[in-house]
Amino acid sequence: MLRSVILAAARSSQVERLVETAPYTRDVVRRFVAGAGTDDALRATRGLVGDGLTVTLDYLGEDTVKPEQAVATRDGYLTLLRALREAGLTPAAEVSVKLSALGQKFDEQLAYDHARAICVAADEAGTTVTLDMEDHTTTDSTLDVLSKLRKDHPGTGAVLQAYLRRTEADCRDLATAGSRVRLCKGAYREPESVAYQSARDVDRSYVRCMNVLMSGAGYPMLATHDPRLIAIGEDRARWFDRGPGSFEFQMLYGIRPEEQARLVAAGYTVRTYVPYGDQWYGYLMRRLAERPANLAFFGRALLSRK
Ligand SMILES: Cc1cc2nc3c(=O)[nH]c(=O)nc-3n(C[C@H](O)[C@H](O)[C@H](O)COP(=O)(O)OP(=O)(O)OC[C@H]3O[C@@H](n4cnc5c(N)ncnc54)[C@H](O)[C@@H]3O)c2cc1C
Repeated sequence: MLRSVILAAARSSQVERLVETAPYTRDVVRRFVAGAGTDDALRATRGLVGDGLTVTLDYLGEDTVKPEQAVATRDGYLTLLRALREAGLTPAAEVSVKLSALGQKFDEQLAYDHARAICVAADEAGTTVTLDMEDHTTTDSTLDVLSKLRKDHPGTGAVLQAYLRRTEADCRDLATAGSRVRLCKGAYREPESVAYQSARDVDRSYVRCMNVLMSGAGYPMLATHDPRLIAIGEDRARWFDRGPGSFEFQMLYGIRPEEQARLVAAGYTVRTYVPYGDQWYGYLMRRLAERPANLAFFGRALLSRK
């Protein structure tokens, strides 16, 4: 219930204005977002790579409605990829891209063209791109764009969401040689017709999907902070004899950093998803919806008079 309310607020421009202008919002944002500019992204990446982690960077933005915004997002990624290459941070750092930030909602071809330009820049920088997955109305379109991109850029990663009923079948389709697939629970508010509603059903689906990916020929990327699912992931790695170079764990910036360090120390490949940029509102609201414990902190920030 609370989760639905927060996800509804994520779509409200009035709530967005209230949140953006609250005095302590910056403190909350800083827990989850590396900063506003490319320099902030590089600084965070350097620190994480120095700690033995790998990184995927998300230049924040989504639901773009104008072609100029899509161009600006594409250019942000091109600048970032050049900077990562010059700083010697590739291939440890790659990028995560939302097609909606590249214009998918109003022109799928435009989003594809921009995504392709980002893939070319990633190739030149010696790294890869992963296409984030958004709400279920975009799944088919995103998988179509992915399959077109993979013709010239086979390292392009997919994301599949365990809460969708279709995902086990999508995992089977994508568990092929060289195919990088991030498996996450899913962060949007979805109807029962397409998505499991209870945490238990989502977790069970996650395990079924993980079994398909870990037993398949591709490169699974297990994105979760859930201790039970991480333990099952470690178990499946032993069972299917997958070493550090053949799958990875992924977690979000600022969430369970001690667990990220523990997995690195245990010899696993761990990738931290690092968002940066000033379009942080939708991202922040999804993080709050996932973990109501963060709300107390956030509430204090909103109500503060300073
Ligand atoms: C790298 C990465 C990329 C992602 N990309 C996408 C994407 O493209 N599309 C999409 O829809 N979603 C994406 N997500 C978000 C994902 O779908 C989930 O919404 C999010 O990861 C929360 O689910 P969870 O697996 O961590 O489990 P949850 O059910 O949120 O949490 C399970 C358990 O994990 C532990 N836990 C969780 N958060 C914390 C915390 N802050 N501190 C301490 N313990 C905690 C607790 O024990 C909790 O009970 C991504 C997530 C990650 C990690």
